[in-house]
Amino acid sequence: MARILIVEDEPSMRLGLKDNLEFEGYEVEFAEDGKSGLSKILSARFDLILLDVMLPQMSGFDVCKKSRESGVDAPIILLTAKGDEIDKVLGLELGADDYITKPFSLRELLARIKAVLRRSGGEGSVQGEPIKIGNLLVDFQAYSAMDGTEEAQLSHKEFEILHHLWKNRNKTVSRDSLLTEIWGYDSSPTTRTVDNFILRLRQKIEEDHEKPRIIITVHGIGYKLVI
Ligand code: CA
Repeated sequence: MARILIVEDEPSMRLGLKDNLEFEGYEVEFAEDGKSGLSKILSARFDLILLDVMLPQMSGFDVCKKSRESGVDAPIILLTAKGDEIDKVLGLELGADDYITKPFSLRELLARIKAVLRRSGGEGSVQGEPIKIGNLLVDFQAYSAMDGTEEAQLSHKEFEILHHLWKNRNKTVSRDSLLTEIWGYDSSPTTRTVDNFILRLRQKIEEDHEKPRIIITVHGIGYKLVI
């Protein structure tokens, strides 16, 4: 059964989430502030982290950033405040996999948790040798990538996007199909979010990310991985 860490300072929200997730059969732990949340994230293995943004001691953004910097690849869903578009985008750029805006329904949250867990479960279908994509040697099964002798830092979402492009290599993939495939729910992030992720992937993959030769822009439609 999946283990979920809830980092949330509001007692009612925290307990509500805990009760409901336990009812759904998840194993739940929680932390009440950013600092103790980070220390739990770094000291134990979780399948998913629900991370509030506004937290005492350390913000959810910092917790997210530091987790990724420390090599934690568990999926992170940020709990954001309403109408805070900039925060959302920033959150995704910090390596979060998804976000949900308060107030949210339990049904919506459960759908996202299931979608994220399903995607991070490896799906069992990614086989084979590491694949050379630009500067990187990518092992989709292990969610790891090497840049020469160094481990490249790719977020879970970046792997998924790259994997989707690779499965459809040498074909045009529309932004909308990336949104549906990777984020997979109705109130999805904007196509601008996709562009931000592509930009970050290019910085890691391309010799010169300003003149991409591997992830090519197909104007007005989307992207194509050329291999
Ligand atoms: Ca809070």
